[in-house]
Amino acid sequence: MILATGGSTSNVHFRRMFDPRLTEVYQVGGEPYTFQDASGELAAMAIGASLWGLGNQMLENGATIRAHRAIGTRYNYFVWDVHCPIFPLVRATGLAVKHWQDLILVNQLGQRFYDESKGDPPHGNVSNDIEPYTPGDYRNSANITYDPTHYNYFNAAMAMNAASQPPDYTAGPIWAIFDAETVARNQWRVTPPHVDPDSYFFSAHTLAALAVTITNPYQAISMDGATLEATVARYNAFVDAGTDVDFGKPMPPYKIQTPPFYAAWATPNVHDTRAGLRINAQGQVMDMQGQVIPGLYCGGESAGGFNQHGLGRCTTQGYIAGKHAAAERPTA
Ligand SMILES: Cc1cc2nc3c(=O)[nH]c(=O)nc-3n(C[C@H](O)[C@H](O)[C@H](O)COP(=O)(O)OP(=O)(O)OC[C@H]3O[C@@H](n4cnc5c(N)ncnc54)[C@H](O)[C@@H]3O)c2cc1C
Repeated sequence: MILATGGSTSNVHFRRMFDPRLTEVYQVGGEPYTFQDASGELAAMAIGASLWGLGNQMLENGATIRAHRAIGTRYNYFVWDVHCPIFPLVRATGLAVKHWQDLILVNQLGQRFYDESKGDPPHGNVSNDIEPYTPGDYRNSANITYDPTHYNYFNAAMAMNAASQPPDYTAGPIWAIFDAETVARNQWRVTPPHVDPDSYFFSAHTLAALAVTITNPYQAISMDGATLEATVARYNAFVDAGTDVDFGKPMPPYKIQTPPFYAAWATPNVHDTRAGLRINAQGQVMDMQGQVIPGLYCGGESAGGFNQHGLGRCTTQGYIAGKHAAAERPTA
């Protein structure tokens, strides 16, 4: 048997073993049309399989947690096409962010936590780039640009930490805050089906009113109007001064000052499963004693111990596991 069930990131109890802050608020790449529910891992664990490479899920390389350029819709991996067959599930296209200088991001308390422009090129949403990268070259490690200000797990974690609340210490959503001038600059249409006003997009004529309007299943506490007003006033002062002394956003150009004001869902995705079942080099699943579980193989995102994004890892491991499993088959 070969387990290739695609990982565990949609299983909130499972992913919280890696970091308790990964609560229900975070959507997963592939949802809401496919769920990485950990069913393969759980079935194997029930017969004694070991997990492996657990640290990989939270390491600061690659974009395991990602912010994408769509806001105002829950499943914000893309700006969706209204004609796609799963549109009834996603409900709104989302608004395409061209420049993160156009807005600020706040946690559920209404506080900024990072330089939003780090989401713009050349940084994008990937951290710790190796430049130049030469396969197999020992100098690669010296060419890593470690930039903790990239919007990746580290930054999401800052928001998580800043607003984490008992009893379950959920940090709540991240909201993009902007004004009527932002909407005009981007020619956004802020009505359905472009935004989802059912808990993922809000507007009001004052910032104080906007804060208390935000109601969402994942917002653990109400946002305080005075906090959001203070955050925006401080940011507008940075625009006047030309310097963001809190997070170093370079020359923030636009004040947030013209009503109506908006709050759009901008919570990142948990994208990859990088921890899973322990396998050996033949793809055989191993137990807690380090012994092979006879006849059980695994590959892809359900396998642990190989810290790489995407199809390359999955198809290679599938090939290896399939080849060895086929060789094990008794001949007639
Ligand atoms: C939106 C998105 C974009 C991506 N873009 C890229 C990209 O550009 N390049 C790249 O390299 N990678 C990309 N990836 C990652 C890549 O798609 C995955 O790493 C890869 O598909 C994982 O392969 P897998 O075989 O492990 O699992 P999957 O491809 O997830 O396959 C698992 C299969 O098992 C089925 N399954 C699950 N549980 C059970 C069960 N209990 N019983 C029976 N069947 C079950 C599922 O329905 C599914 O068909 C992307 C992923 C997403 C979500």
